[in-house]
Formats: sequence, C-alpha cells, structure tokens
Amino acid sequence: DAKKVGRNQVRFFDTRMQQQAEHRAELEFGLRRALKENEFILYYQPQYHSNQQLLGAEVLIRWQPPDQPLVSPADFIPVAETTGLIVPMGHWILRTACKQLVRWADDPETAHLTLAVNISAVQMHHHQFVDDVLSILSETGAPAHRLELELTESLLIDNIEHTIDKMLQLKQHGIRFSLDDFGTGFSSLNMLISLPLDTLKVDQAFVRDMHRDPRDLAVARTIIDLGRSLSLNVIAEGVENEQQLKSLRMLGCQCFQGYFYARPMPIDAFIEHCQLPVPLF
Ligand code: C2E
Ligand code: MG
Ligand code: MG
Ligand code: MG
Repeated sequence: DAKKVGRNQVRFFDTRMQQQAEHRAELEFGLRRALKENEFILYYQPQYHSNQQLLGAEVLIRWQPPDQPLVSPADFIPVAETTGLIVPMGHWILRTACKQLVRWADDPETAHLTLAVNISAVQMHHHQFVDDVLSILSETGAPAHRLELELTESLLIDNIEHTIDKMLQLKQHGIRFSLDDFGTGFSSLNMLISLPLDTLKVDQAFVRDMHRDPRDLAVARTIIDLGRSLSLNVIAEGVENEQQLKSLRMLGCQCFQGYFYARPMPIDAFIEHCQLPVPLF
C-alpha cells in the first residue's frame, strides 16, 4: 500500500543521502590532508593570440592523492567550496602562480607571459579576499599586471556592488579580470556592462558545435561581437580542431585556448612548450 511504498522511498533516499554524505566526508578528509601534505599540482594550459604569439597560460588545479589516479577539479572543487577549504586552497593556488610569474619576470624570453587563475565565488566573497591577494603579491613580488583572475557568472549574481568594489581595488594594482564560461550562466547584459572586466571567455559549449550548428555559431558570433564592442579581449576556450579555429577567426576572435593547441600540462612541460616554435595554424 501507499504507506509502505512511502516508507520504502524514505529509506531509499536515506541510504542514498547517507552514501553521498559519506562520500563528501571522505573527500573533505582527503582534501584537508592534501592541503597539509602538498598533494595539489597546478597544470598550465597555453593561451595564444592569433598573431602566433604565446600569451601565457590558464592555471588549472589537479589533486594527486598518494597511489591513486589524478583527481580532476570538477570532482573536488564543489566540496572545497561547501566546506570553505577553497579559501586556503585558493591561497595556495595564487601563491604558486605568483611565484611562477616572479621566476619568469627576469628573463626577457618569458617576462611577457601572463597567468590566468580561476577564482571561485566562495573565495571572492570571503571578507579577506582583497587583502589576501594583495599580501600574496607583496610577499612574492609578482608583477600584478601579469595576473588575470577568472570569475564565473554565478559569482556575480549576488552582491554585485560588493564584487565590483573588490575588482576595482585589485585593478588599481594592475590585476586584470576575465569572465569565464560566458553565456552559460544567468548573467544579464546589464551586469556585463557594469563589471570592470578586461576579457570575455567564450565558453567551450558554443565553440564545440559552431562549425556544425548554425545556432551555436550565432551565439558565438554574438558573444564575440559583444566583447569587441565593449572593447574587451575575447578568448575562445575549448578549441579542438581547425574548423573551429577558422570559424572563430572569421568571427573576429583573436585569442584561443584548447586541445588543438595544447592540453593542460605540468609546469616543466609548459616551460619546454614555451621554447617550441609557436604552431603555425
Ligand atoms: P574552466 O575554468 O572553464 O577551465 C576550462 C576547462 O576546460 C579545463 O578543465 C580544461 O582542461 C578544459 N579544456 C581546455 N581545453 C579544452 C578542449 O579543447 N576541449 C575540452 N573538452 N576541454 C578543454 P579542468 O582543468 O578539468 O577544470 C574544470 C573546471 O574546474 C574549470 O573550468 C574551473 O571552473 C574549475 N577549476 C580548475 N582549476 C581551478 C582552480 O585552480 N580554482 C578554481 N576555483 N576552480 C578551478
Ligand atoms: Mg577558467
Ligand atoms: Mg571556462
Ligand atoms: Mg567551465
């Protein structure tokens, strides 16, 4: 009868929810250990300008638990966010990226390279965010104008005035901002024009099928035009093949990132990559 079914359903959800809670607790435990034991690694994915110039890289975190396969950020960033662990983790990411910028700063071959660092909403909304970033800059001596912070639309929905204020404080020091995954969230055009942004990233969802689906092409064109008319740099992510690159170029997009050029890689591989001649696509 209905009562029995209802009870069974409750039990079913209980078990599933309990499993999820256990998985989450395990992940949280692992992440705390990872922070203490230095199990995180930064990967670097090259970003190019269409004049064949290597601009720098986007920094992407990975987790290497002992004797286990590499864990991708999609699997642990959400837990890091809900537990607040993203704050110390984000601190480590920024410091590591800044130290790399310092290593590059003295060599004319590498001094122009920029690093784009993803910033999560929880991190940005933390009351110490601006102070933290500024103290990392002064502690490492990193050139602030080589650092770009990637924000996502979700971040900007609540407390936009506050976010703008933080962005402006950091921009005074030379830090630049990009809007990541543009077009996939809930942002309004009004929000886009009120933010002190430097770069708009075209999400890979629109790049993926743009050479096959005229609707994706239309969205990509609109985003690129919008960015250009707002005088923003526009970079396309997820460029996987030559047709996509051609279409993007035709639409006036000038910066690219994706597997067609290179996958994200550890720092040693990226440094080797910098010495290679830029691929002539
Ligand atoms: P995102 O910032 O949009 O990063 C782009 C993702 O697309 C990366 O996945 C990258 O490896 C992947 N990608 C790059 N080129 C291609 C391509 O040509 N084809 C395809 N299919 N994928 C491509 P990844 O490294 O797994 O990161 C996933 C997401 O996790 C990132 O999306 C970002 O939101 C988050 N994330 C990564 N690292 C960090 C970090 O250090 N801090 C924070 N807060 N979030 C991070
Ligand atoms: Mg990003
Ligand atoms: Mg993205
Ligand atoms: Mg993404």
